[in-house]
Amino acid sequence: MANGREVAIVTGGSRGIGAATSLLLAKAGYLVVVNYVSNKPAAEKIAAQIMHDGGRAAAVQGDVANEDSIVQLFNAADRLGTLKTLVNNAGVVDVKARVDEMSAERLARMFTINIMGSFLCAREAVKRMSTRHGGSGGAIVNMSSAAATLGAPGQYVDYAASKGAIDTFTIGLAREVAREGIRVNAIRAGIIDTEIHASGGEPERAAQLRGQIPMQREGTAQEVAETIIWLASGKASYVTGACLSVSGGRSV
Ligand code: NAP
Repeated sequence: MANGREVAIVTGGSRGIGAATSLLLAKAGYLVVVNYVSNKPAAEKIAAQIMHDGGRAAAVQGDVANEDSIVQLFNAADRLGTLKTLVNNAGVVDVKARVDEMSAERLARMFTINIMGSFLCAREAVKRMSTRHGGSGGAIVNMSSAAATLGAPGQYVDYAASKGAIDTFTIGLAREVAREGIRVNAIRAGIIDTEIHASGGEPERAAQLRGQIPMQREGTAQEVAETIIWLASGKASYVTGACLSVSGGRSV
C-alpha cells in the first residue's frame, strides 16, 4: 500500500487500460497522475472519480511523442510527491495496411509514440527512482502486446514491431537498473475491449477475433489493470524483466 505521497504516473490514463489502472493505483494508495494527450474531459472524469472515492489524483496533459512535454509531465508529478511507479501505457495503432503500403509518416508516428515515448518516460522515471541518482526505487510497467510475438501480418506489422521493441526494452532496462531498486516489467495484452480498435478503423475487431482466443472471449481493461497493479506492487518483489501475457491464452 502506497502512503499517499507516493506518486504513480499513468501515461494515457484517461481511457481504456490506463483509466482502469489509474483507478486501481488510487485504491492502492498512490496519488495518481492521469496523463492524457487530447481528451481532457475523459482524464478529468477519471481524476474526479478517484477523488470522489477518497483518493488523490491530477489530470495532466502531456504528449509522449514530444520530449519537452514529457519532461513537463514529470516535473508536474514532482510537485505532487515522490514518483514510485510509472505505467508506460500510452500507445496507438493505425488503420489496417500491408508493409508495402506504409508511409514514412505513419511509421514515424507509430514508433515515436509507442517506442520513443516509452523510452523517454522511463528515462525521466529512472532519474527520479534510481538509488544511483539518490532515489528510493520504484517500478515501471510497460505495455506490450501479444502482437509482439504474433507479428500482426496484413494488419499492422509496424504496431507489432513497436511492441517487440518494448519487450526488448523491458528486458534491457530491467537488467540495467536491477541493482538500483527499480523493477521493470511488461504486459503483453491480448485483445482487450477498449476504444483502441475503433481508432484503428475496426470497432468490431474484438468481437470478430473472439473465436481465435483460446478462452473464447476478449479481455477487459480491468483484467489487465489488475495485473499491472500486481507487477507494480511489492507482491511482485522478485519479478523483473518479465513480459507477462494477459491474453486469454492467445500467443505463440
Ligand atoms: P485506448 O483506449 O485507445 O487509449 C489510449 C490512451 O493513450 C488514451 O488515454 C490516450 O489519451 C493516450 N494517448 C494516445 N496517444 C498519446 C500520446 N501521444 N501521449 C499521451 N497519451 C496518449 O488504448 P488501450 O486499448 O487502453 O491501450 C493502452 C495500451 O495497451 C497501448 O499501449 C496499447 O498498445 C496496449 N494494448 C492494447 C490492447 C487492446 O486490445 N486494447 C492490446 C495490446 C496492447 P487521450 O484520451 O487524450 O486520447
